[in-house]
Amino acid sequence: MMGGTLMDRTMTGAYLPGNSTVELREAPVPEPGHGEVLLRMKASTICGSDIRCIYHEHLGKGPEGYQGVIAGHEPCGQIVKAGPGCRRFGVGDRVIVYHISGCGVCNDCRRGYMISCTSERYRRAYGWQRDGGMADFLLAEEKDLIHLPDELSYSDGAQVACGFGTVYEGLRKVGISGDDDVLITGLGPVGLAAGALCRKLGARRIIGIDVVEERMQLALRLGLCDEVLRSGQDNVAEVRGLTGGRGVERAIDCSANDVARATAIRATRKWGRIVFLGEGGRVEFNPSPDIIHDQKTIFGSWVTSTWLMEELVERLVRWNLHPADLVTHRFALEQVADAYTLMASGKCGKVAVCFDEELQS
Ligand SMILES: [Zn+2]
Ligand SMILES: [Zn+2]
Repeated sequence: MMGGTLMDRTMTGAYLPGNSTVELREAPVPEPGHGEVLLRMKASTICGSDIRCIYHEHLGKGPEGYQGVIAGHEPCGQIVKAGPGCRRFGVGDRVIVYHISGCGVCNDCRRGYMISCTSERYRRAYGWQRDGGMADFLLAEEKDLIHLPDELSYSDGAQVACGFGTVYEGLRKVGISGDDDVLITGLGPVGLAAGALCRKLGARRIIGIDVVEERMQLALRLGLCDEVLRSGQDNVAEVRGLTGGRGVERAIDCSANDVARATAIRATRKWGRIVFLGEGGRVEFNPSPDIIHDQKTIFGSWVTSTWLMEELVERLVRWNLHPADLVTHRFALEQVADAYTLMASGKCGKVAVCFDEELQS
């Protein structure tokens, strides 16, 4: 049955067979073991990486390999059962799940970056190598949990798990302040999150580039960009034109597109910084004129750490910033197939599968 309760022995979960469809199947409600909790799912958002690596076909290898589990790596919910040995969280707590469960004891895990856990045996991403959030319930490890304050909704929290956390990390690496004009290439959910966070960090002017009309309009309507350019041959000149001929101080690539990446590099002024967040693809540039002679730095940034995610949650409350404002469409678990179809079309902001009270808001 749909919309399972804790009394049920089975729940519904969504699987991605890899041919652009979604399969709903019954699965047993898991029992939390030592140091584990059972969450009643409340919000589970779809990520670009789900579409890129799992939905159309199973492309990923290693950390991006999909092992036929329940999908959804951006889960947020409420603890309904806690196993023995839990130290901080208990029944009733509202929590975000850091979406990769690491071994906990390798160097990367000790830094809080379970995303790059080096243990082949114990590193398991929710929704990729262990069951994720597209189900009535989710079994999670206590060490993967981030407290969700009352000021934030579960749909806010679901986006902290991956999108906003990833952007916050990248912005911390390049540093954003009131000195900066910022270029964002790619205005999908990650690019929109970059706009929202750059605003709160005080960026002077935010310029976005995209090809999808809906996304360009959304960025302007939500006030996340001051200027939006349609992707094209003249983007570098256009950005320079908007910045006194010099270019931006900071550029954030959220597109993974080779042309847009080159634009991000070339439209950045001397001494500027560029961060690449978009995954996959290629880029071609000429090191001497494009970065060396202009003293530029290119950063790579992959997801974030548990401690920076906690810091982000604190900032979201302080700034009264609600990631759920980027959610343009909400679906019940029964309609999860439509949710993936829409996300794959790109004609949307963030797409969420919601449960209980989160479906109404
Ligand atoms: Zn993600
Ligand atoms: Zn580890």
